[in-house]
Amino acid sequence: MKSNNRHPHPVFEEVFSERGRIEEFQGRLIDWFVSGRQAYPWRETDDPYAILVSELMLQQTRIATVLNRGFYSRWMKRFPDWETLAGAEEEDVLKAWEGLGYYNRARNLQAAAGLVVAEHNGQLPPDFDAVLALPGVGRYTAGAVMSFAFGRRAPIVDGNVIRVLARLLDFRDPVDTAAAVSYFWSRADRLTPGERVREYNSAIMELGQKCCTRARPDCRACPVASFCRGREAGTAGELPAKKRKGTVTPRLERVGLLVSGGRIFLEQETGKRRRGLWKLPEVTEEEAADWVETLRFSYAITRYRVELLTFTVPESAMIDFERRLDGEWFSLGDGLAHLPALGSPYRKAIESCLINAREELEW
Ligand code: SF4
Repeated sequence: MKSNNRHPHPVFEEVFSERGRIEEFQGRLIDWFVSGRQAYPWRETDDPYAILVSELMLQQTRIATVLNRGFYSRWMKRFPDWETLAGAEEEDVLKAWEGLGYYNRARNLQAAAGLVVAEHNGQLPPDFDAVLALPGVGRYTAGAVMSFAFGRRAPIVDGNVIRVLARLLDFRDPVDTAAAVSYFWSRADRLTPGERVREYNSAIMELGQKCCTRARPDCRACPVASFCRGREAGTAGELPAKKRKGTVTPRLERVGLLVSGGRIFLEQETGKRRRGLWKLPEVTEEEAADWVETLRFSYAITRYRVELLTFTVPESAMIDFERRLDGEWFSLGDGLAHLPALGSPYRKAIESCLINAREELEW
């Protein structure tokens, strides 16, 4: 596929040059959306708090996970409004987020709630700059809150929207550059209607989720197929183009499972990103040389592929860990749900090790 892009990219003007074409595009998308819309809980409300919660949860987590595993409903029950969240203990907030990962989202949500309570009297105003000023809120999320909660005209551009527009406009240059992203924001802005913006923004994202999917676009079911230059040129399946991916760096992490008398020893995480979380203590290669390796699996974090090795630490070595680490013993009697918030890999390791070793360790 050869690049066809000239600057400025001319296809948008060609596709939408005729009078009324943009309105026709908007109308088709909205009609398609309304006739088959998914009834997500955050679509049944115009509460900016509920919408911000859903947007932050969905930033790095799939809809199916957030819904089917009950993260959203549990959160809304536990922290139903700005005030409750602002006044909660950080430890409880992180615990409620456990399993979703990227805990900074939870911290930002609580900081945003604090700001709404302190500066806006508990009522987020329908003002783009005020929404954008909330911690963890970027241009996309501010646009989502403005349109979904307040019905105000605001474009949104996320991965779904970029994929749809790249295919629609047969945009063959890499989409993950600042110039391309800025181009998509400006074209999304021109396509966003003044009326029914909530439905339009939901529609264009849903088109990317259901029809113009990453794996394979289903052009026959697409309500805007007649506008699509990528479909016409036969390039849609290869778009959007991306810059070459950065290399993944392998890493090895050894951790110890200290279990004694029905309790487990955990260490406090350090560093800003992981503040408030707990983990299995790290062990060195020398320490672990004679210990039993109980589990091994890989997980990805940023640009690393980490291989996590879990060792059972013998009772004789535990005292040394207690002395040198900022850690605590926690009871296993009430199940993992009663442990403090743990990073996902450690939680998974503890779960697997407990199932495998329950009889051996006799608790
Ligand atoms: Fe995507 Fe196909 Fe629709 Fe074009 S016609 S927007 S490629 S689903």
